[in-house]
Amino acid sequence: MTRKSVVAGNWKMNLTLKEGVDLSTNLCQMLSKKPLKSIKKDMEVILFTPFIHLPEVVKIVKGVENVFAGAQNCYSKPSGAYTGEVSASMIRSTEATHVLIGHSERRSLFSEKDEFLAEKVSTALDNDLKVVFCCGENLNERENGNHFEVVNKQIYNGLFWLDEEQFHNIIIAYEPVWAIGTGKTASPEQAQEMHKYIRGLIEKKYGENVSDNISILYGGSCNSKNAEELFENNDVDGGLIGGASLKPAEFFKIIQSF
Ligand code: PEP
Repeated sequence: MTRKSVVAGNWKMNLTLKEGVDLSTNLCQMLSKKPLKSIKKDMEVILFTPFIHLPEVVKIVKGVENVFAGAQNCYSKPSGAYTGEVSASMIRSTEATHVLIGHSERRSLFSEKDEFLAEKVSTALDNDLKVVFCCGENLNERENGNHFEVVNKQIYNGLFWLDEEQFHNIIIAYEPVWAIGTGKTASPEQAQEMHKYIRGLIEKKYGENVSDNISILYGGSCNSKNAEELFENNDVDGGLIGGASLKPAEFFKIIQSF
């Protein structure tokens, strides 16, 4: 196994179905002219779309090598009387391959706690979905110097009960909350420092083979101007991109920043 470079787009609650179809079609056209493997070996792109868009986007990305579609969330239970929720098996039935769990907007706006997120990770893996697990401190926590402790706890509670085989289906996204949607990016040094810390935690828990192979993405106001200086750090394996993933040309530039 080799460590993959990954650029993932998080559309959040944006775009009508037609706009989402147009965006993914556009992006896939660019990627068929300049395939990912010509940009970087072992590189993947994932589009995290709203549930509504998922079956259509799955069809669009199907013919493009190493481009995948995923959901932004799933419920923790397999099925039942949970009006308005969407299960991991429903997501998998669209042939989507990935799910985002623990995004800071889910943690803060919907009060999702570590234990609940761990249940979501479990049901996602049970249904053969790969998980992009988000972690990151808020501004207060960073200013008080608690950022390592916060991220450690999120990863420990959310993921460290997994066995080694399950852990191979995890990608981590470090997203400092103060950098998400604010235009304020972590410096390359801050990103590298935290990514190295996270890789160290994984090494202690699962050994070097696992820690060397896990992809750790940076998220938080990443765009085509700052992507290169972030991605060139040893422990930064790509990005989770919000706002800048909504414009295909801008997102494509970020993909080419490796
Ligand atoms: C995100 O939503 O995960 C994100 C990083 O957003 P933005 O790029 O807009 O800061």
